[in-house]
Amino acid sequence: MQKHNSRFNKKSKKIIYFYIAVFAVACGFVLSKQSFASKNSITNGLTSKETTITTTEATKIEEKIFGYSEEGRAIEGYEIGNGEDVLFFFGSIHGNEMGTVDLLETLIEKIKTEPSIVDSSKKLIIIPCVNPDGYYDRVDKLNANEINLNLNFATSDWQQYGPDNGDYAGDEPFSEKESQVIKEIVETYNPDLMISYHSSGFLVTPEYNHKPSSDLALWYAEMTGYTYYDDESWDYPGTATKWFMETTDNPAITIELTDNENSDWNINKDALTELISTDIF
Ligand SMILES: [Zn+2]
Repeated sequence: MQKHNSRFNKKSKKIIYFYIAVFAVACGFVLSKQSFASKNSITNGLTSKETTITTTEATKIEEKIFGYSEEGRAIEGYEIGNGEDVLFFFGSIHGNEMGTVDLLETLIEKIKTEPSIVDSSKKLIIIPCVNPDGYYDRVDKLNANEINLNLNFATSDWQQYGPDNGDYAGDEPFSEKESQVIKEIVETYNPDLMISYHSSGFLVTPEYNHKPSSDLALWYAEMTGYTYYDDESWDYPGTATKWFMETTDNPAITIELTDNENSDWNINKDALTELISTDIF
């Protein structure tokens, strides 16, 4: 029920923002730059826009559209910094895991306020919402084609599953535009590590039998208090993290926030800040 109320409020807000936007344009009034979150609400991800680049002393902050969803919504995010160590964080590959979007948007706002926390050795690729169609239009994990995107990656053990139970992995690996966006980012930037944010579970899972991943997961669990969870019953075929690990041999972990609604910012902020400001990984 709570989830429904939250959706209703989000839709109501979108309608209000839409009329505000129409009024502002009619008056020739240029809306000043808002946070990523409010811009997202105004456009609902449907309107493309120019890439925005803000350069501070040392940190380039570039807002980008990395691709489009199956329904044509922009998959927006940020490229931050120009270092050699590339960290890739994304949220809401499952549409109903809304707190993950808030968590990564909060991180982006923190960086905008204090760009110097990003070490010069780092480049960050951050996509708060990989699955905007699910986020805006659905109450389950799936995308517009009713596919579980986190089973749509070309791992060596890919399985189709489904078609019911919320676990249909698609007609073939990378059949979906959202998973193609992740693939393209990995091929373009060759990230040194990847973190996929989900909910809910209050835990961290590594990619299995992969020491770089378990080292990162153990460290993240220690920093946050999340449970380190490497039960092999969770070793699913077709996930983004498994594909990333197999493809790059770099560490990949999955974080499960406490619940679907909350960002867990206070739990994650020290770990995230240390990841972006030091060369610990
Ligand atoms: Zn999930």
